[in-house]
Amino acid sequence: MDFKIVERSLFARIARMVLRSSNVAMVLGKTIHLSGVDRYTFLKDEGWVAHELCHIRQFKEHGYLRFLWLYLVESWRVGYYNNKYEVEARLEGMKHRRHMNPAQRAASTITPTGLPLPGDEKETQ
Ligand SMILES: [Zn+2]
Repeated sequence: MDFKIVERSLFARIARMVLRSSNVAMVLGKTIHLSGVDRYTFLKDEGWVAHELCHIRQFKEHGYLRFLWLYLVESWRVGYYNNKYEVEARLEGMKHRRHMNPAQRAASTITPTGLPLPGDEKETQ
């Protein structure tokens, strides 16, 4: 899939500060914005990459502005965790988890940030 990565993204940094999170990946269109994690660490994490690529596909499927709107409405309606776009992305990310041991699996948990944008955070050590 065609995508771009922006490290030390201002958008992701703002999200990270608001959320007091150690790291954030946020998708806008075809671009994955990172803060608190570098490209190399992110790309090594198959499950996390699969999760964010799923958001890129959702942007493509629905159109940029339309998807932002749908995502927002969905979050508003059912909450971030149950947002169907997050549920879909989470399932996509979990396909890789069966190859992991329990410790890796615990470390691989990706949760939606709770921002009105397709952003995700990861608890790290
Ligand atoms: Zn997500």
